[in-house]
Amino acid sequence: MDEKQDNATSLFLNEDTEKMNNADGGVQRLQQAVQTRASRAKKRVHSITRESVINFLRHNAFVILTVAAVILGIVLAFVLRPYNMTYRQVKYFSFPGELLMRLLQMLVLPLIVSSLVSGMASLDSKASGKMGLRAVVYYMVTTFIAVFIGIVMVIIIHPGKGTKEDLQSEGKIERVQTADAFMDLVRNMFPPNLVEACFKQYKTQYGTRLIKIPLVQFSNASSVSEPAFMLLNLTSIVDNVTRAMESLQEMMTVEEVVPIPGSANGVNALGLVVFSMCFGLVIGNMKQQGRPLREFFDSLNEAIMRLVAIIIWYAPIGIMFLISGKILEMEDLALMGGQLGMYTITVIIGLLIHALFVLPLIYFVVTRKNPWTFIGGLLQALITAFGTSSSSATLPITFKCLEENNGVDKRVTRFVLPVGATINMDGTALYEALAAIFIAQVNNYDLNFGQILTISITATAASIGAAGIPQAGLVTMVIVLTSVGLPTEDITLIIAVDWFLDRLRTTTNVLGDSLGAGIVEHLSRHELQKQDEELGGSVIEDEKPYHLICQENDTLKRANSETKM
Ligand code: ASP
Repeated sequence: MDEKQDNATSLFLNEDTEKMNNADGGVQRLQQAVQTRASRAKKRVHSITRESVINFLRHNAFVILTVAAVILGIVLAFVLRPYNMTYRQVKYFSFPGELLMRLLQMLVLPLIVSSLVSGMASLDSKASGKMGLRAVVYYMVTTFIAVFIGIVMVIIIHPGKGTKEDLQSEGKIERVQTADAFMDLVRNMFPPNLVEACFKQYKTQYGTRLIKIPLVQFSNASSVSEPAFMLLNLTSIVDNVTRAMESLQEMMTVEEVVPIPGSANGVNALGLVVFSMCFGLVIGNMKQQGRPLREFFDSLNEAIMRLVAIIIWYAPIGIMFLISGKILEMEDLALMGGQLGMYTITVIIGLLIHALFVLPLIYFVVTRKNPWTFIGGLLQALITAFGTSSSSATLPITFKCLEENNGVDKRVTRFVLPVGATINMDGTALYEALAAIFIAQVNNYDLNFGQILTISITATAASIGAAGIPQAGLVTMVIVLTSVGLPTEDITLIIAVDWFLDRLRTTTNVLGDSLGAGIVEHLSRHELQKQDEELGGSVIEDEKPYHLICQENDTLKRANSETKM
């Protein structure tokens, strides 16, 4: 029994000691693990202090500097705001920002032309046709989704409760008729003078013309004016029937408003895009004969991109002053209260839904890749878009981010980005549809389904027609309002917040263009691969330069003549 007990005790003891040993072992193992972790962490800290920090900073320098610039800009502005700077002082303060805009805009024209010509020339017509179709389908689908989101948001939130009197109007707005605006869009696609297209666009103006119309027709005209009507009445009262019959033959002179040719300052990007695409396509089809031109535009594009690489270092400074200058210029923040505040929030929510959910989702569904890694590579372009409010001025940086950070094929970026920056503006389309319905709401104007459909179509067209410059969307919104008979002067009610909303919609526009380039590249990968195989590598980089071919030809000719001799 005792033995048994002893055995049992010893068994328990053994178990206990085993447990203790196990526990000791566990603790030891834990200690070891902690030690190895600590030593690894130490090693990592050691290595962090040297190369990796430098590497990390070098790779992310632009993004870090740009984010820092935005934060600094905001802080600086709020520090300086209490000093109530005059308008002149604010303008002097914003000067470095203005310089950035000018530098970027300087590159846009040669960049659009050279990238489109070389991009189109490097693709065979079948590949560029397919790529173009994919790009257009993407642009149309995303723009319509954006418009839809805008309309749904403004109907659900209904920011336009109350009357117009609660809102302050600011600035002036030029009128334009819908048909004329559509025709201007088409006219601008075909500029009669390419040099002029570099700095001017066609824009219909309105003048008056004296016309003679028979008095009776005048009285029937819908646009009959008061004095003329009275005049007619007077004649019919005073004169007898014979006299009235005679008056039918009489003519009356009236003023008629007519569209006349006019122009507006600014690059006609649409015209240049159309021309460059056609030109590039033709050069591509010319094969060997078109090679010198292709080499020229390739090399021009490369040179411009090298300039971009230099200017990009100045971007953070420029962005800092652009942002702080704008905050300093900003008037009373109390203006943002009430209906205008609700309107601003509605636009922000709409843009966020489109930019953070819809576009990344489309990218993920099509490519099955992580959209956030892609967007991470675009950060600098997005911040520049926010700082400059211009998708066309941001274009050089967008190119750089897509090609260098995200590794998108140059044949795709060169083709898709300039077109996207000119015609694909999701943020603008969303904004225009939303703003038009907001204006209808403050006017207590009930829109029927047909009118909402008209708004969505005209908002899409207006976004295509809007130039990639600050607040262009505000100008083209006139088309949307006139199409459903809303008062165009009411655009002045939303001008107060447009500087801010413009930045957000420009960022959305740039994001849409960039994700579009990623999607088109993915869809066109087989054609691009095929072309690579046929030509032995990327057409643009790996082809033999033209001067080398000439040299080879010369040597061949010389060798031939020597053998003949
Ligand atoms: N500023 C915008 C852009 O450049 C256009 C707009 O006003 O909506 O993309």
